[in-house]
Amino acid sequence: MGFPRSIKIHSSDNVAIVANSGGLQKGSIFLHEDAASGVELQEFVPQGHKFALEDIKQGEEIYRYNVSIGLAKKNISKGAWINEEVIDMPKAISMSDLPKATSSKNKIAPLEDYFFDGYRNPDGSAGTRNILAITTTVQCVSGVVDFAVERIKSELLPLFPNVDDVIGIEHSYGCGVAIDAKNADVPIRTLRNIALNPNFGGEVMVVSLGCEKLQPQRLLPKGSFPIVKEADGSEKALDVVCLQSEQHVGFMSMIDSIMKQARAHLSKLNSRVREKIPASELVVGVQCGGSDAFSGVTANPVVGFATDLLIRAGATVMFSEVSEVRDGVDQLTARAQTPEIADQIVEQLNWFDDYLGQGNTDRSANTTPGNKAGGLSNIVEKAMGSIIKSGSYPINAVLAPGDKVKSRGLIFAATPASDFICGTLQLAAGMNMHVFTTGRGTPYGLAAVPVIKVATRTELAKRWHDLMDLNAGEIADGTSTIEKKGWDLFHLMLEIASGKKKSWAEQWKLHNALVLFNPAPVT
Ligand code: CA
Repeated sequence: MGFPRSIKIHSSDNVAIVANSGGLQKGSIFLHEDAASGVELQEFVPQGHKFALEDIKQGEEIYRYNVSIGLAKKNISKGAWINEEVIDMPKAISMSDLPKATSSKNKIAPLEDYFFDGYRNPDGSAGTRNILAITTTVQCVSGVVDFAVERIKSELLPLFPNVDDVIGIEHSYGCGVAIDAKNADVPIRTLRNIALNPNFGGEVMVVSLGCEKLQPQRLLPKGSFPIVKEADGSEKALDVVCLQSEQHVGFMSMIDSIMKQARAHLSKLNSRVREKIPASELVVGVQCGGSDAFSGVTANPVVGFATDLLIRAGATVMFSEVSEVRDGVDQLTARAQTPEIADQIVEQLNWFDDYLGQGNTDRSANTTPGNKAGGLSNIVEKAMGSIIKSGSYPINAVLAPGDKVKSRGLIFAATPASDFICGTLQLAAGMNMHVFTTGRGTPYGLAAVPVIKVATRTELAKRWHDLMDLNAGEIADGTSTIEKKGWDLFHLMLEIASGKKKSWAEQWKLHNALVLFNPAPVT
């Protein structure tokens, strides 16, 4: 176990967390060199949990990240364990009178000469993988598409060695939904934009049932997908295999049609080769899941450092998870590039407050039992550690859920914090690389983009040695730094983007389902 070690984030904080694996016993005294110098623990404190650095009276503020994470419910003596039982959560920050674009602009020092080997797409974007995606309009066709995908993988894919994979874009939407209701545009545009993800090379093919509410022309209206010219120069219509079409007699006829269409697209995808592409073409989605008190100390600051490197290289980085940034809205609006962008941030957060309000709940519904067991007392504390992933540069643009990126730089893509919904919406936004931090541990992965997982603690990185791609826990151990790990992550992203290496989730083919965000009613 070694000497008692603590981590204090900001000089004005009145709490620190225990760094030692397994926690620290009552009576442990922190040595002179430690941030908690001289403090004696009054009780056992688990790893990652807070203790008081001074006596805190009932009603006084508890500070971590130089931010009040709540008021003491009772007198807390120096060295005592501070968990959610003794903290009253502060009220949500008011959305009026926020600072807008006030933060002194961090001048971006360009980072040049970083490249990856990727696939150039007809629309100018770049893919990190070369995948045939079969888009579906409705859940009804999923079984058929699964069957076809298995056949394509075993019979066709070996003929097209430059294509990495074939996947069905399967989902729970498409019928039995109030398709004209307010907010129904969210799941529809999400599906549309996923079909156009840069890792799918602009080859759009659709399998439809026929009678569903989400008709192919509604999902992908003319002009929304790349135009393909026929040999005679005419524009090819959207490529749709309709299962209810009278031409299909029997199940195998449907499978044959899907395979015939897939072969044509595979042939085009196969003609592409990786080429040297500037790092500025990376579109990285960052998120966290299964967080603990180390998330905001090790893994998320590492991602934040790498985010700054990517922004300096001209790339696009999206951060999301509305309920995990709500308590830091003042930081975000201050970092907005312009007052208009600050207003767009507020608009998205207000929309989400209303959405949660419809269920008589609020952002406090976010935290999980695992978060609390890991030392995160409430959503305010979690949010402060979550926002760090966005680095330090100005926020350049805001996306509503399901929208696609139109500009480079740092982007707030408003999504729920749910891992699979956030990942699905970031896919729609056009990410070609995903970075995911975890403290409690999750095997999360996606079929469409590589997912790099960063562990917050060495203990997790060792136990899940074949699931975690980077160990940020070494920062808490005192054997590495945020800067060093940030550069490691940046280089790892370029290597994985180039297809020279696979992340563990990709290696084991751990693919979570796509989960659409549908704020509209079902029928
Ligand atoms: Ca998440």
